[in-house]
Amino acid sequence: MPKAAREPKKKNKKSKEPPKPEAAPDHRQLGIEQELFTTSIYSPGSTIFLPNGARIFNKLTDFLRTQYDHFGFQEVITPTIYKKSLWEKSGHWENYAEDMYSVTGRGASGEKEGRQVGEDEEYGLKPMNCPGHCLIFASKQRSYRDLPIRFADFSPLHRNEISGALSGLTRVRRFHQDDGHIFCRPSQIREEISKTLEFVRLTYGVLGLGPYRLALSTRPKDHYIGTVEDWDNAETALKDSLDTSQQPWTLNEGDGAFYGPKIDIILKDSDGKEHQTATIQLDFQLPKRFELEYQAPAPEIEKKGLTTEDPELLSVQGPVTPVLIHRAVLGSVERIMALLIEHHNGRWPFWLNPRQVKILAVNDSPEVLAFVQKTVEELQGYEPLATTGAGRGLGALGAGLVRGGRLAIDVDVTPRNLNKKLLEAKLQRYGVLVVVGKQNVQSGRLTVDFSAIPDYRYDIRESKMLNNILKAYQEYKQTRDSQFSGWGENWAPDEDDLPIQLDDTPPRRLDWEEVKAFPISARTLRRVLNGLQTSFV
Ligand SMILES: [Zn+2]
Repeated sequence: MPKAAREPKKKNKKSKEPPKPEAAPDHRQLGIEQELFTTSIYSPGSTIFLPNGARIFNKLTDFLRTQYDHFGFQEVITPTIYKKSLWEKSGHWENYAEDMYSVTGRGASGEKEGRQVGEDEEYGLKPMNCPGHCLIFASKQRSYRDLPIRFADFSPLHRNEISGALSGLTRVRRFHQDDGHIFCRPSQIREEISKTLEFVRLTYGVLGLGPYRLALSTRPKDHYIGTVEDWDNAETALKDSLDTSQQPWTLNEGDGAFYGPKIDIILKDSDGKEHQTATIQLDFQLPKRFELEYQAPAPEIEKKGLTTEDPELLSVQGPVTPVLIHRAVLGSVERIMALLIEHHNGRWPFWLNPRQVKILAVNDSPEVLAFVQKTVEELQGYEPLATTGAGRGLGALGAGLVRGGRLAIDVDVTPRNLNKKLLEAKLQRYGVLVVVGKQNVQSGRLTVDFSAIPDYRYDIRESKMLNNILKAYQEYKQTRDSQFSGWGENWAPDEDDLPIQLDDTPPRRLDWEEVKAFPISARTLRRVLNGLQTSFV
């Protein structure tokens, strides 16, 4: 018996290995197959994200927004066009104009030379967010106590790439960066770089991309601004941060930008091809061009990134130029999407899957259709009208609102053969399939197939999902036992959804067949799916 019981388990193990790539996946082809994005001759190089692509894009940016709270970034929303005089101030007009789009409009024809700022100026479509963030920093008095200040921005950026170079999501004219600018004291460089490297490590871990290597580029031989001392201090800080990151890094001597040293994150894809994605750049130049400053005691010491206890020196306050760190973790969201599309080759982890759940109706009888609709509402987290515990929150108004984790749910109620519909949904790589028939209407339970969730990174089927069910059960018990008895029936999982006794130690592990065959209520399924969604699996 034990031997026979072990047999299918082995089989399961085998299927858990990462799928072997057939042909080298191409994100442009997969983008068409999965209906992620398209392009148009009317705007070459600007991606048109279709609903499925927009879902992935938003999942990535939402993921970063959540991390921003933790890493102390504040999101800002900034203009797309700025006057030429701003780009002159930032140096872009001098060094980058070739790659920029010029914009003219009413009262901004650019024809009248020598007019005041604001009267008749040409505009430039922004290729970078840095100048806009400098304007925000300069918009009020800053003290050393306010620093570091970290701004994040997902604005679309435009760069006028030559049309022959345009391709898919990797060579584009319009793209989005997960852009961030940190304004800090010279003494804070080390810590900010370390935090950024940690942010990079966590993000790439979640995305399952890598390995990557870190490359430090240092002061160019001739063409650079700032003092050698500034550079040496900054480079030492970067090297220290790289060493403490305990990740391998290499040195590109003399390869830094003229305005400061930088760390590039170079990612290796499944074909061994290298892509520069994330970047961390120190900048001594831009804060000076924008005359940015903050007030600090002992400004001469502060400028060197040092501190003093000398009361006489500390009694003098003065202006100090902040250090600017440009940093992007994903780099271009479009390029990361291209890498992810090829990396997953259609088998998305549940949280990123633009096709998370498909509900298939066995027939189109009114009862089944009504149950399908009810199931969608329950999975999305529409709360039923509260009949008890009235007066809570939005009350009746809140009944139509969604509180769940924004699941991507599609429905197939076409009057076709169920097997055909199932096959199609599997080919479309839906993560979870829910079949609704007469039996389900009667029992109020769902027959769920989780088998399409790729589980080669985590052992979802046997532990993660069960843990979520167990968690749901525990929460249910706690709530039921607490005073809010009015809530219970509406949202908690039914007790007999859970075949495991909480007192079982250790809980009995269900095998996959048992789990799959186990009909669960929509509310329990919602908890499981929200659990998968926020565990980034
Ligand atoms: Zn920047």
